Amino acid sequence: MDCIFCKIANKEIPADLIYEDENVVAFNDLNPTAPVHLLVIPKKHYSSLNDIDEEKVFGQIFSAIPKITKKLGIKEYRTVVNTGKSAGQSVFHIHVHVLSGREFTWPAG
Ligand code: 5GP
Ligand code: ZN
Repeated sequence: MDCIFCKIANKEIPADLIYEDENVVAFNDLNPTAPVHLLVIPKKHYSSLNDIDEEKVFGQIFSAIPKITKKLGIKEYRTVVNTGKSAGQSVFHIHVHVLSGREFTWPAG
């Protein structure tokens, strides 16, 4: 499958890997929008949040996040999942943005 995040998960193309376990990989975003900007993805391909059909995947992704932030010494961060083009999704392999290191405004733009 021609998916850039599958290729990163399979180590076919390089990325700045921050964390890896059996099910999940985290790496630095290529175009960071905050001093810390990671993407956390399942190794298995799901195009978006709408396509996850196994509940355990949510646990695999979200239980990895506090492990990663703890390792990085981060206590405050924003997690974002864009689903669909109009919501800002540009890569169609589900990913959770983890952003930190600056003040964030709300509501989101
Ligand atoms: P989305 O807009 O789909 O929520 O987020 C996709 C994110 O993936 C963007 O923040 C973009 O900078 C990042 N991105 C796109 N291609 C690559 C890549 O090849 N490597 C890395 N590390 N990040 C990427
Ligand atoms: Zn993929």
